Amino acid sequence: MLIDKNDLQSALKKYFGFGKFKGLQEGVIESLMSGNNTFVIMPTGGGKSLCYQLPALMQEGTAIVVSPLIALMKNQVDAIRGVSNEEGIAHVLNSSLNKTEVKRVKEDIVNGVTKLLYVAPESLTKEENVEFLRSVKVSFMAIDEAHCISEWGHDFRPEYRNLKHIIGRIGDNIPIIGLTATATPKVQEDIIKNLGISGATTFKASFNRPNLYYEVRPKTKNVDADIIRFIKQNSGKSGIVYCLSRKRVEELAQVLQVNGIKAVPYHAGLDAKSRSNYQDQFLMEDVDVVVATIAFGMGIDKPDVRFVIHHDIPKSIESYYQETGRAGRDGGEGHCLAYYAYKDIEKLEKFMSGKPVAEQEIGQALLQEVVAFAETSISRRKFILHYFGEEFDNKTGEGGDMDDNVRHPKKKREAQDDVKLLLETIDNTNEKYKSKDLVNVITGKENALINSHKTNEQAFFGKGSSKDKKYWMALLRQVLVSGLLKKDIETYGVIKLVDAGRDFIKNPTSFMMTEDHIFDGEQEDGTIV
Ligand code: ADP
Repeated sequence: MLIDKNDLQSALKKYFGFGKFKGLQEGVIESLMSGNNTFVIMPTGGGKSLCYQLPALMQEGTAIVVSPLIALMKNQVDAIRGVSNEEGIAHVLNSSLNKTEVKRVKEDIVNGVTKLLYVAPESLTKEENVEFLRSVKVSFMAIDEAHCISEWGHDFRPEYRNLKHIIGRIGDNIPIIGLTATATPKVQEDIIKNLGISGATTFKASFNRPNLYYEVRPKTKNVDADIIRFIKQNSGKSGIVYCLSRKRVEELAQVLQVNGIKAVPYHAGLDAKSRSNYQDQFLMEDVDVVVATIAFGMGIDKPDVRFVIHHDIPKSIESYYQETGRAGRDGGEGHCLAYYAYKDIEKLEKFMSGKPVAEQEIGQALLQEVVAFAETSISRRKFILHYFGEEFDNKTGEGGDMDDNVRHPKKKREAQDDVKLLLETIDNTNEKYKSKDLVNVITGKENALINSHKTNEQAFFGKGSSKDKKYWMALLRQVLVSGLLKKDIETYGVIKLVDAGRDFIKNPTSFMMTEDHIFDGEQEDGTIV
């Protein structure tokens, strides 16, 4: 189908009142309306919903939107109904509807009134719904929060795994659009595979947030005092302080109040009335600071949050990115400050210990990335963007000097020979180890896996033993980020050489490394290391 750009523009104006498309929206819409499977990766706030809402409103038939969050579905339905005089233009189909309501929804669809039908994945597994949807004209299927299909995402939902099969039953050749704000290469691959959209046209927006300043401080027993000082230096500004537990939320909120800071707690254990009260007070600026668990944030759209503090380090880089992303949404200043002690990582590991093994392995791998992020001395922004599969150059990229490691760089040293040794070791071991074992091989530490391969009997075993594991781990991370190596997507973690790395072995060049920060956790005297 040939798409007229003028038609798109006028529909955008007519239905949403917007003068122009945001970011990649127009390309996405053209792709979908041309009948292509389409994959959209955009950070939160990027304008994903419109990418399927507008085509749905413009096309014949009903678009089925799969979304895991009932509350968000309701919001969207209300918003769409607001742009039209026809209430039936958007519906939710779920198990809370009574018979009469279901009948009405079905009639509206059959009569071509309904352009958007929101369903939870559970409802789509119901035979009667599938049978019904087979019999009507479906314009396309939109899979929102598509990362729910992947165990590597931060919000895995097993019901999402059935979608491919169900879509196939509803009809052949129905275009599919998958949308997510989670951008790790592993999750992307999972989505494409599990939705069966291997030829999809992919649109990926940059995840760079140039106005956010990233900083990590060691967590000592004086962390509360440090937070108070920080908030007082930023007095009158709005901020969020994230804590892991409800108990800590309550305690810290009190400590802040006692110190004259207008703060309220927020967590899922509070009754609904207090929660909505506190949320309103924050939005209305009667209070400056919300001390919260991760329950706070979904759907909060306060544009001028000036700082996000992590009293406890989150369990994945995705969570960190989502939570810090609530700062500076208006494009103004946003300071993201995280406190880190290795002890907290151990605490998070303990939480996982009761879970199934596969889940624990994934959780571990995600946690290791958090450790790497906290301890790294390379640009935090570069690290985050690399994690999301995006290369960033601090010299030319927007916001290139907006993090602690760039503003206060540690001394660098020449590591050309060590990089060569590292790459050779990977080559010599046939690229079969994850980072921990690789570092064991280089430093000459035996373990069951290494011995089972007889790697401990090789001449190169322990060749780098004059330096310790921490040093090699830091170097490995920097070499990864520099693009000489990659982590294998399938096994998530096995380190592989890329062409640039093989070239380096033949023709080594200068490689300036910085040693990582050393965080030994809480110091006895509470000093900050
Ligand atoms: P996401 O789902 O990617 O988090 P949303 O769809 O919620 O993002 O959109 C974020 C905000 O951007 C919303 O307030 C929305 O109204 C607004 N928005 C979307 N598209 C446009 C546009 N073309 N022009 C102006 N604002 C837009």
